[in-house]
Amino acid sequence: MSKQRPPHRTATRLVEAGRDKRWTGPVVNPPVWRASTHLYESEADRKAALGDNNDGTFYYGRRGAPTQWALAEALTGLEPGAHGTVLYPSGVAAIAGALMAVLRPDDVLLVSDNSYEPSRNIARGLLKKWGIEHRFFDPLDLEAYRAAFCDKTRAVWLESPGSLTMEVCDVPAMAAFAREQGAVSLIDNTWATSLGFPALEHGCDISVTSLTKHVSGHSDMMMGSASAGERWYRALRLTSQQLGQVVSPDDASLALRGLRTMGLRLEQSTASAVEIAQWLKTRPEVAHVLCPMLPGDGSYGLWQRDFTGACGLFSFVLKGGDEAARARFVDALELFGIGYSWGGYESLALPFDPASIRAATEWPRAGWDPEDRLGVRLSIGLEDPKDLVADLECGFAAMKEL
Ligand SMILES: *Cc1c(COP(=O)(O)O)cnc(C)c1O
Repeated sequence: MSKQRPPHRTATRLVEAGRDKRWTGPVVNPPVWRASTHLYESEADRKAALGDNNDGTFYYGRRGAPTQWALAEALTGLEPGAHGTVLYPSGVAAIAGALMAVLRPDDVLLVSDNSYEPSRNIARGLLKKWGIEHRFFDPLDLEAYRAAFCDKTRAVWLESPGSLTMEVCDVPAMAAFAREQGAVSLIDNTWATSLGFPALEHGCDISVTSLTKHVSGHSDMMMGSASAGERWYRALRLTSQQLGQVVSPDDASLALRGLRTMGLRLEQSTASAVEIAQWLKTRPEVAHVLCPMLPGDGSYGLWQRDFTGACGLFSFVLKGGDEAARARFVDALELFGIGYSWGGYESLALPFDPASIRAATEWPRAGWDPEDRLGVRLSIGLEDPKDLVADLECGFAAMKEL
């Protein structure tokens, strides 16, 4: 009898994922299959494919081809508890597609108040138009969350940590309560990915990720994914097919390339982020550092309990509320680009002011000096953190100049 091998660890799974010979043929990576029409051997073959709506069965370009199937399989393999993964042309498309797969007219959706703004806009716009109501809840208040449920609550939208303000919520408790109430829990897991937060294992029904961020890792493509167990995977797949959503094989190939180094990139950028966050805490210009993996942060306890990893994205709040000074800070940075998105190899800085978009929580947070409200979000890339600190120091110096 051959010796039994132990299950592969994460680094090994990142190398092996999605590299089935069915997709790669005799080469290391799945080739880019550019295809709309799939040609059948015979009429009997064409008929046989009709009843088999699964990855691996050729049908037509909209169902994908081996490049996309390899990526979906890789992501499924990296998400414990997943039966399958649906790919979407962007992270926002994944959020909208997943919510549309779950919700029906007259349902109520609960939305975590730290959610990414386009997720909120989907609730306020698209879903409202289809007769679906929503209520925002404070992600840090489990009692308020429970109290927000009503007979019509069909689904819960979570984001942990919130990608601007970094609150980690008690996802296992929230997902368990949703299940008890007969509601579906969906989570935007872009920050941690399945490596840092195995969302389905923690009780969520559907895990949504913007692959634009960490999976791509190089700021040169856009894509999203939703992974789920069998029941919801089928619903996601059918809804996405009816919406005509498809991703290009070129982008799928880029995503697979990014995936291979994602573990290393996340480890490095997390270590750099912690170092920079610690330094920011010592700066007189900084009122609050919002970084769940920093001991002493309000979210550190839950992060440590539930997460096995993190990333380079965190925020801080400047003292004093001087917007022009914040603009001088950001403009003076040379290594940090000013821009949306994150998770690339290059660092970014983004000023933010969440007060106007909050519905169930306060900003500045209760107990803070109300002047201390101007946020800056940093996405820490793969530069040497000492160079990034030096760059931030120049930014702080520029705040004082007039
Ligand atoms: C960027 C982002 C998305 C959307 O992803 P796109 O690929 O840009 O559409 C979703 N959720 C979070 C938390 C994000 O930061």
